[in-house]
Amino acid sequence: MSQETKVSDKKVSPKLETIEELLELMSKYYTKESCEKIFEVYKFSESAHEGQIRRSGEPYISHPIGVASILAKLNLDYSTVATGLLHDTVEDTGVTLEELVTRFGKTIAELVDGVTKINQIKFRNTHEKQGENIRKMIVAMGQDVRVVLVKLADRLHNMRTLNHMPYEKQVIKARETLDIYAPLAGRLGMMSMKVELEDLSFRYSMPDQYYSLVQKINKKKKEREKYIEDVIEALTNEVKKRVKFKFKVYGRSKHLYSVYKKMTHRNVDYDQLYDLLAFRVVVNTIPECYEILGIVHSVFKPIPGRFKDFIAMAKANNYQSLHTTVVGLSGERIEIQIRTKDMHDIAERGIAAHWQYKEGASVKNVSQQAIDKFNWLRDLVSMHQQTHDSDEFLENIKKDLYDEEIYVFTPNGDVKAFPDGSTPIDFAFSIHTDVGSKIVAARINGKLVPLKHELQNGDTVEIITSKNQKPSKDWLNYCVTTKARSKIRAYVKIEQRKRAMELGREILEKAFRKEGRSPQKYYEGIVFEKYLKDNGANSLEDLFMVVGYGKLAPRNVLEALVPDHSEVKEQAEESFLQKAMKSALSKKKSSDTLVIVDGMDDVLVRFAKCCNPIPGDAIVGFIALGRGITIHKADCEKTFEIDAARKVDVAWTRGKSPTASRMVRMRVISHDIPGLLKQMTEVMSASGTNIHNAQIRTTRDKKAICIFDISVRDTEQLEIVMLNLNKLKGVLGVSRITHS
Ligand code: MN
Repeated sequence: MSQETKVSDKKVSPKLETIEELLELMSKYYTKESCEKIFEVYKFSESAHEGQIRRSGEPYISHPIGVASILAKLNLDYSTVATGLLHDTVEDTGVTLEELVTRFGKTIAELVDGVTKINQIKFRNTHEKQGENIRKMIVAMGQDVRVVLVKLADRLHNMRTLNHMPYEKQVIKARETLDIYAPLAGRLGMMSMKVELEDLSFRYSMPDQYYSLVQKINKKKKEREKYIEDVIEALTNEVKKRVKFKFKVYGRSKHLYSVYKKMTHRNVDYDQLYDLLAFRVVVNTIPECYEILGIVHSVFKPIPGRFKDFIAMAKANNYQSLHTTVVGLSGERIEIQIRTKDMHDIAERGIAAHWQYKEGASVKNVSQQAIDKFNWLRDLVSMHQQTHDSDEFLENIKKDLYDEEIYVFTPNGDVKAFPDGSTPIDFAFSIHTDVGSKIVAARINGKLVPLKHELQNGDTVEIITSKNQKPSKDWLNYCVTTKARSKIRAYVKIEQRKRAMELGREILEKAFRKEGRSPQKYYEGIVFEKYLKDNGANSLEDLFMVVGYGKLAPRNVLEALVPDHSEVKEQAEESFLQKAMKSALSKKKSSDTLVIVDGMDDVLVRFAKCCNPIPGDAIVGFIALGRGITIHKADCEKTFEIDAARKVDVAWTRGKSPTASRMVRMRVISHDIPGLLKQMTEVMSASGTNIHNAQIRTTRDKKAICIFDISVRDTEQLEIVMLNLNKLKGVLGVSRITHS
């Protein structure tokens, strides 16, 4: 098995590959003629690199041969293997691209050019450079994925021969590989490439941890090998009893880096890790896979929840297999994978399997087919075209490159794959940008959940939208996919600018009005134009934006545009009560207590006890998991404690049921005067409210505190009652109590 862990670590370079070995490899799947052409390419490359020596002291050509051999082992086509041999010629020797075109044709020259371009981006250990590099790699992939295959082979060979490099360089290269190349190989489905890159990087970037793990593993090596043999034998015997078809059972230790990740992730030591071994049964057909699964589960006890059917639902990188975890011979957990030979080939070689030479199939067709299968590549390429900020780009794609997948269902039963940690927001944006932008909530397996809710394997997800909804910046905290994040960011940016502009317009308008001037007069003419220019603004809108963002004070604008501007004239403000009275009298709308929840019908609505909102109050709704929507006053302190992701837009319905009312509590403090209570109750009933409960107590300083529970239609009615109570002689204060 190519994934077999080499637990006995050897600190020597691998044996040098020779051109003879490369030709031998190629002759297994290529015509004699192509092999001869490869030999021509080799001779050209060798003379170009003549005199160049690697750090190890070997002639430079050993590196291109090594790279080409890795590509040939992946059974890649002639052009790719040839590119492996030529990949450093343009960069490191006097060979020109034109020369390559003349000698070997346009395809190979373009591939070499692609690899050279990737190499020219020098890595510095900053985020920005990494982002830039991945971006270029992705552009290269979009045109011809083979460029990246050559680059990966180049990196793998360099990692294999890294021990000749100085320590600092080893660490840098190893980290880079772990950060970018290994995940990329994984996403391209090239598992054996990924595993080898990871273990080599692990060794050079964290040598202490690496060698201590190797020691621990070696200690129990014999025990483990015996155990593997026992399981293989037991499994083989049981299957043989029951089926006639051919199959083979393999067993191995998981590779070092994955063991290390498990140890750190679960914070356990090596001895405490159970699932360090993996077994694999390889068969010929899909029905045989399921038949083997049945046998495995009847022989070993399966662990619930650990069975995964990646045959029915292939991973985004096209990986297919059945996975199950069972209780092994001595009570340990063992993981068993069941797959066909073809699936195994795809699992090991991934996208490379689609470029292998096929008699009669043109490479171009094969590559288009592969691109179609690797849909996420297209997303990345279009992402690249939309984002010009490398940092943002890297941040965006990281999730796509690294994370495990979960599988969820649409209401129609279609399956969609998402990175772990995805939410309904990710799901909604994956359907369509319009759906994502308008999402207000989701039903998962029939239950209402907030936007923040993390999707789980097997969930059925139904998105609830509202035409009034808009994406919000908060959402960025609750989504992980590239698509959702970049769309929300783009929207938020535009919105922010709009808001800043409106705010700036308003601030300036007020500043002008305060001095009794109309701003319109000053928004034109030479002085104005010059002022715009001086402040780096191209238009009036730009100026508003500058003011809105707070970069320019309105006073400065006024001073500049109004040469003779005078002192601010004080304006008598209407008292709050006057205003309240006015609004109470001006509005004559009826309302009822029903609440419309944005985009949803028939939702259970409850009013929060903490603030007891009544119609007319500004309100917000929050999704209470499994318990519908809770309505709070918009200014309720409790709302600050509630996760913003649960927020939904709600509104009072108007004019449906004028008889509906809500209970509200009021406190009236007054002098303890006989007859005053009677006047209070008269005021209340005159305003059409009902008193449900009253508590009265007096204080030592001859004051009366009355608590009334009354039912009101809305805030308008309440305001009128409160105003009239306030007018009574002897009343000191009237307030609405929202906290009992
Ligand atoms: Mn190279």
